[in-house]
Amino acid sequence: MFGRDIGIDLGTANVLIHVKGKGIVLNEPSVVAIDTSTKRVLAVGDEAFRMVGRTPGNIVATRPLKDGVIADFDTTESMLKHFLNKINVKGMFVKPRILICCPTNITSVEQKAIREAAEKSGGKNIYLEEEPKVAAVGAGMDIYQPSGNMVVDIGGGTTDVAVLSMGDIVTASSIKIAGDRFDNDILSYIKKKYKLLIGERTAEEIKKTVGTVFPDGRDEEMDIRGRDMVSGLPQTVTVKSEEVRSALEESIYHIVQASRNVLEKTPPELSADIIDRGIILTGGGAYLHGIDQLLAQELKVPVFVAEEPMNCVAIGTGIMLENLDRINQRKLKI
Ligand code: ADP
Ligand code: MG
Repeated sequence: MFGRDIGIDLGTANVLIHVKGKGIVLNEPSVVAIDTSTKRVLAVGDEAFRMVGRTPGNIVATRPLKDGVIADFDTTESMLKHFLNKINVKGMFVKPRILICCPTNITSVEQKAIREAAEKSGGKNIYLEEEPKVAAVGAGMDIYQPSGNMVVDIGGGTTDVAVLSMGDIVTASSIKIAGDRFDNDILSYIKKKYKLLIGERTAEEIKKTVGTVFPDGRDEEMDIRGRDMVSGLPQTVTVKSEEVRSALEESIYHIVQASRNVLEKTPPELSADIIDRGIILTGGGAYLHGIDQLLAQELKVPVFVAEEPMNCVAIGTGIMLENLDRINQRKLKI
């Protein structure tokens, strides 16, 4: 592999790696399967994901960054090393520069540890960057001008809302309500209404296939299977879009509220820019049916879904690394 610059989106649900000149070369779930008796890592990424909810007692499939903080550092480190080895960073002729985009809430000790893990895996200069900034850049926003840009990134573990201007975050908020919470809301609803136990993956499937958050936005249904809590036997029920909407209502309200708070704290000149340009949605949650319509209605601002919302951060790392060159060149000239 030839690329010299590597960008990593270390997400709570998915890890993406972008290599200069090649584009996105890796896209796998941030899951690690561990044998609890020996503490050995058995599988990482796609392979570990297939084990979620299907492991015997001594094996656990965990998501080390689940809530947007590093719950288990050793596992995060193993995962990062595994992915970097997979794209053969150590075999590169010239040691690459690596830009890692990590959750906004991690501590400086965790940042240092991430840096070290990337260095051990063959990186030379390691840069860390805040996720909403990179997401905005990857969504095509020119955040370096003195004007307001607003991005709402709905991932697996966290929703990050930020207003950016002149290359920096002006106002921001991060809440732990995002895709995972939606899945859980659906799971709880099905349990309460139908006395049926379903897995997280089934809940996610419902969210994607028939889910909506906008009233009258979608009218579909799907049959789902689970375990009847009364008889203990497998059972099938039919779930409708409107049911999913009501199950997600409260969580979505929190996302609207977080966005509203950020807008309220934004200086008026920048607010005016946002009214003109609109808000951009990134992350997998941007695919949630009706989320753009609902936010536009509640916030009275145009809302757009980014092109390839789940790839924005990875694409953004590529652009930011190129900008780094330009900044360095400018410095050399002075
Ligand atoms: P992170 O950056 O935290 O790793 P991602 O941006 O990769 O998260 O998004 C993952 C989330 O997006 C998951 O919760 C997943 O269920 C959700 N998601 C993916 N596709 C869809 C879809 N079509 N509809 C609704 N949610 C989706
Ligand atoms: Mg993300």
